Amino acid sequence: MKRVIVLGATGSIGSSTLRLIKDHPQDLALVGATAHSNFDKLKEIATLFNIKNGIFSTKTDEDALSKVLDIDCDIVVNGISGSPGLKASIMVLEKGRDLALANKETIVMAGNLIKKLAAAKNLKILPVDSEHSAIFTLIEKIGGENVSEIILTASGGPFKNLPKEQMESVTVAQALNHPTWKMGAKITIDSASLANKGLEVIEAKWLFDVPEEKIKVIIHPQSLVHSFVRTHDGILYGQISKPDMRQPIFAALTHPNCLDSGLPILDLWETGSLEFSKPRFEDFPMLSLAYDAAKYESTSIAYNAANEVAVAAFLNEEISFTDIPRICGKVLADFHKCSCENFLRVFELDERARKLAYEGIRKC
Ligand code: NDP
Ligand code: MG
Repeated sequence: MKRVIVLGATGSIGSSTLRLIKDHPQDLALVGATAHSNFDKLKEIATLFNIKNGIFSTKTDEDALSKVLDIDCDIVVNGISGSPGLKASIMVLEKGRDLALANKETIVMAGNLIKKLAAAKNLKILPVDSEHSAIFTLIEKIGGENVSEIILTASGGPFKNLPKEQMESVTVAQALNHPTWKMGAKITIDSASLANKGLEVIEAKWLFDVPEEKIKVIIHPQSLVHSFVRTHDGILYGQISKPDMRQPIFAALTHPNCLDSGLPILDLWETGSLEFSKPRFEDFPMLSLAYDAAKYESTSIAYNAANEVAVAAFLNEEISFTDIPRICGKVLADFHKCSCENFLRVFELDERARKLAYEGIRKC
């Protein structure tokens, strides 16, 4: 039995995690949860799981994270959206808990420092992002020393086939209409611009210690192959299952075991064709920019921060969809290889990039 704390319990990852816990009473138990502003859902969670003192709001209780992480547990799921997730991950590890990590910003902003912190305390970081969960599982089976290349799959999002000249005028509603995954608003916009795949290239580099030249992206609209790794002998290994985030969450929660998830399995007789194609790098500049950003820690931080600010402005209808890469590109150009020796420096660089992004928005 694993006792689980869920951070960001009211979100998309949080809700999938809670469903899994509800469906696996023999293997999993919820002992604590946090959310930010959705008080009604927090109350529902407290009632549904019969938890009196383990449910906190980070909006009204400054010490919410610290209090929830003092509860005895075996693993913490970080399903917080955006850069606030980094502080939570640091605290999880400092409190000596294994981390099931959906919050990709943690690795994009501070992958090396976070890995060092986990190693110093002998703790596990188990990726939940579906591509990274797939790669993590494949590398465990194949052996990291045998891997020559990582290939991240991308659904392509709602604008996969949209002509470039129509990108300028896409609406928020169109960008929020993801073809295969139901997720929070920020990551859904990122999937439409391919910034999500960009963040995932950066995430893969820092998480698996693989240079960005050895991380490729392919468009795979069915979202059934969750990523590939290639071994030195040229063979590709992929991980295939239905597009359901409960699958990678379950893998993280039950690691290192392989238990019966009870989730619907993929029936290959019913599946139809699997398609793969090269991304349209020129029409999705957020993907090309990510390869530049992945080079250094400072540029990774800047890419994430500028994109977060720009996406919030797009969601508020202050800028157009194509302004997002324009703003990020300008911010990135200002971030040379800066040293990034501690978390304080990470937050400083993050703030500097945000300021530049806000300036960029004002000029739009
Ligand atoms: P959602 O927007 O659906 O949920 C976000 C959660 O974080 C909510 O519980 C929200 O609380 C909480 N939250 C928001 N702001 C803060 C804050 N400042 N401090 C503490 N908690 C906060 O996001 P997703 O579940 O879609 O994504 C979560 C993370 O997982 C992201 O990093 C995303 O990139 C990653 N991810 C998500 C996938 C998915 O399928 N959704 C797939 C792969 C990765 P409240 O609702 O109460 O405001
Ligand atoms: Mg992903």
